[in-house]
Parts: sequence; C-alpha cells; structure tokens
Amino acid sequence: MADVHLWKVEENGKIKSSAIWNVIRERGQIVSWASLVWSLKIIPRHRFIFWLSFRGRLSTRDRIRAYMDIPDANCVLCSGFAESIDHLLGGCFFARSIWNLFTVAMGICEFAAIVYHLWAERNARVFGRVRRNVDHVLSDIVFDCGALIRTWRRVPKGGREWVLCHE
Ligand SMILES: [Zn+2]
Repeated sequence: MADVHLWKVEENGKIKSSAIWNVIRERGQIVSWASLVWSLKIIPRHRFIFWLSFRGRLSTRDRIRAYMDIPDANCVLCSGFAESIDHLLGGCFFARSIWNLFTVAMGICEFAAIVYHLWAERNARVFGRVRRNVDHVLSDIVFDCGALIRTWRRVPKGGREWVLCHE
C-alpha cells in the first residue's frame, strides 16, 4: 500500500494550522541573526527593512546598476561615494553621525530603528520628497523607540528601557 498523508486532529477535535505549516514548509538555513531581526522589541516595519539589510537585499544603487543603467550611483545622503549597503548603513558620514549619537545607549530597538530611518531618508531623497538633516532623522528614531517602549507591558522600573522611555 502506498504512503498517504493523514491529518490527525487534536484532542479537542480541531486541526492546528501551525502543525500543518510545520509539516509542509521547507526549512531554510538557520542564520545567527534571525532572533535579532525577528525580536518583538522591534517595530514590524523596521523588522522588514532590518531583514532586507541582513540579507543584503536593499535596492541600493550598486545593486540597481547591475541590471539597469542609472545616471548617478552616488549616495544621496552624502553625494560623495558610491551607494552600497555597507556605505549607506556604516561608512556614510550621515549614517555615522546617527550611529555616533546612539553609541552610548545602543540596544536592539535603536539598532533596527537606525537602519530603518537611514533607508527611509535615502528613499525620501531618491524619490524627491524631503531632504532632512541628521537632527530630524534622529528625532524620528527617538520618537519611534519611545513609542515602542511605551507599548512594552513589563518594563522594569529603573531598568535601561524605563530610562529610555522617559527620555
Ligand atoms: Zn553617503
């Protein structure tokens, strides 16, 4: 007799979709940064950009140039260097200004927010909306982190997160 798939119900007579998903899905390689990227302490829209950056899949100009002729491949945040993920999120003076301001209080929440807002500022400039300075981008990061921290239900008073929330 040939093998067949049978779905076994739980004791309460229901089928768990999560159990079905775990049976049928293909499992990819487990990466060391997965728990960092998918942490619940990160705003969901930040998680997505964070994930793309870890995968090296942000559509920076060096990647676009591989399949399309574009007139300018320089970074829109500083205009001085070719735009790549490494430059945009690290080497660029605009990015370094943001990173330096957060170096003392760096945590996972701020880390993802910085990546997200650098990418958002880059896109705002590329697509012709607004051009903001470091202080404006910084205030957006602080606002997002504060809003997220206020949603945490169990924030230990006196802890680092509590101090950040009040700041
Ligand atoms: Zn730059």
